[in-house]
Amino acid sequence: MRCLVTGGAGFLGSHLCERLLNDGHEVICLDNYFTGRMMNVAHLRDNKCFELIRHDVTEPILLEVDRIFNLACPASPIHYQFNPVKTIKTSVMGAINMLGLAKRVKARILQASTSEVYGDPAVHPQTEDYWGNVNPIGIRSCYDEGKRVAETLFMDYHRQNKVDIRIVRIFNTYGPRMLPNDGRVVSNFIVQALNGEDLTIYGDGSQTRSFCYVDDLIEGFVRMMKQDKIIGPVNIGNPGEFTMLELAKEVLDLTGSKSKIVYKPLPGDDPKMRRPDISLAKKALGWEPTIPLRKGLEKTIVYFDNLLKTK
Ligand code: NAD
Ligand code: UDP
Repeated sequence: MRCLVTGGAGFLGSHLCERLLNDGHEVICLDNYFTGRMMNVAHLRDNKCFELIRHDVTEPILLEVDRIFNLACPASPIHYQFNPVKTIKTSVMGAINMLGLAKRVKARILQASTSEVYGDPAVHPQTEDYWGNVNPIGIRSCYDEGKRVAETLFMDYHRQNKVDIRIVRIFNTYGPRMLPNDGRVVSNFIVQALNGEDLTIYGDGSQTRSFCYVDDLIEGFVRMMKQDKIIGPVNIGNPGEFTMLELAKEVLDLTGSKSKIVYKPLPGDDPKMRRPDISLAKKALGWEPTIPLRKGLEKTIVYFDNLLKTK
């Protein structure tokens, strides 16, 4: 099949392109390089089944494809808050353009949605039928509401135009090819620990997140796209839940770093807790994560260690 991956030069997108090529598909990687890097897919460029297109999803494009994976959107708060108007345009106009394309060429299309659609959740762990607790006017809204509208558009194109959609709600995912200056907690702590700098905990460190290793997540994407039982939304994440203080201590332990932990102000609207209920993914996709946090962190530390040494 010919697969289009928007945001394909980003962290998750580059792993997905690699996996789809390994599975024998043709891959078109589309990216505007806002947070993605050509370096992330440089190793794929000699593959005759791989094509790279510089394009912005807020503009329409016509391509003959069988599958669309819509991942284009900055994912880290510092990047999506850099130009919030552009962020919401990317989610909303990007969804409209990609759904229009899917409709025209009759492609199956997957939306990379997010646990952020649950906002600061009042239900724990989060199940797919929970409608969320999202501030519509805060500093995270450009991302959260953009992704919520994208889900609405996917469902309406499905009901109105019979577009063959899939929606996955991704919970915090980490691994090699995250940017060292990405601002997300796993990359921040690892880079700080390896550089001997203070680890910056925002707030008192009691807030929780559940971290999924990238390979597990990509397996979830592939299974979701292959099957005909459900269109989603389906939670894809690792239910292992950790406080940010626990994460910091784990990183210090694994790196053997002498760095100290320092506390910084908590950003606005930072969710207090997050953990996916993955019963639906288990039942419908036969999917569950296989890589525990400690093992995933070890692999990610090796990646950043090599990256920082070659800088
Ligand atoms: P990333 O920032 O590494 O990747 C996003 C990619 O999209 C980048 O390559 C970027 O250049 C590209 N992009 C941004 N705006 C674009 C535009 N207008 N046109 C074309 N390309 C554009 O982030 P990621 O972690 O790889 O996230 C990928 C997707 O998964 C995003 O949609 C994100 O919202 C979603 N997601 C990720 C996580 C996570 O923990 N990594 C969690 C929830 C959802
Ligand atoms: N965080 C932190 N130190 C950092 C970066 C983030 O304590 O250097 C916290 C952040 O406030 C949040 C959690 O870690 O509570 C996860 O942040 P991230 O940006 O990785 O993901 P998100 O908040 O979007 O889930």
